[in-house]
Amino acid sequence: MPELPEVETVRRGLAPWLEGARIDKVTLNRRDLRFPFPKGFAEALEGQTITAVGRRAKYLLFRLSGGRIWLGHLGMTGVFRFAGAKFKDASRYYEPGDDIKHDHVVVSLSHPTKGRLTLIYSDARRFGFMDIVDREEDSPYLNGLGPEPLGNQFGAAEMALRFKGKSAPMKAALLDQRVVAGLGNIYVSEALHRAHIRPTTEAKKLVLKSGKPSARLELLAEGVRAVLNEAIKAGGSTLRDFRDADGGSGYFQHRFAVYDREGEPCPTPGCTGTIRRIVQSGRSTFYCPVCQKP
Ligand SMILES: [Zn+2]
Repeated sequence: MPELPEVETVRRGLAPWLEGARIDKVTLNRRDLRFPFPKGFAEALEGQTITAVGRRAKYLLFRLSGGRIWLGHLGMTGVFRFAGAKFKDASRYYEPGDDIKHDHVVVSLSHPTKGRLTLIYSDARRFGFMDIVDREEDSPYLNGLGPEPLGNQFGAAEMALRFKGKSAPMKAALLDQRVVAGLGNIYVSEALHRAHIRPTTEAKKLVLKSGKPSARLELLAEGVRAVLNEAIKAGGSTLRDFRDADGGSGYFQHRFAVYDREGEPCPTPGCTGTIRRIVQSGRSTFYCPVCQKP
């Protein structure tokens, strides 16, 4: 399942091909993905030029010349690719295989320097969806999201405001999209390990009596940024290697420190711990009981 770094990798792969391109025709091969396409969706896109490809949390935001925003969420199996051998090099970032029965959205584009392009969105399990909105704040998906973890507004002070007096475990507190946008199950485990904080620790324990963040919370803010940045950095190259090696699904599997490593030795230098798995709110959490302190 793509998390924030994977979506950012897709965004970076798509941007040079889509920015400046005019949308000539949109063909929807179904009426819905996870949700129905909004009424007049294809017509609203046709004739528009994509001015920028952005991202908010795990949403791709294709900004249109008329001012509206085409919003896309990849769900679990959503992938974009370009049709045709001419664009092989670009398409490898989103290679979904050759099964065209899942090609749900086909977009014909004209790019000023790259010529005619066909962008295809396919989504085997159809947990992804698309929408079109006038402004970000009009979207029920974007409205109320907390700061971007890699943006300037995210930090320990901001988290301390949210965590003060909260007895929720750190795992749940970090998954709250109002606290930080786009952080999912995998990178919460990774960030807590990086900051040596146990996922069951109560959120309020990381806030000082004064309401200021503790040193551990400062470490956590750094840990969140570090694990995401490393995954994004690994994205391009790892994705290419993965695809070359096995021609598979198109999402890279980053080497995680704790995620999905139950029973393996903790990678923290000098730590003798063994990674443990617990279930919190119905989802697996991985941590080291030795170097991650309550
Ligand atoms: Zn450890």
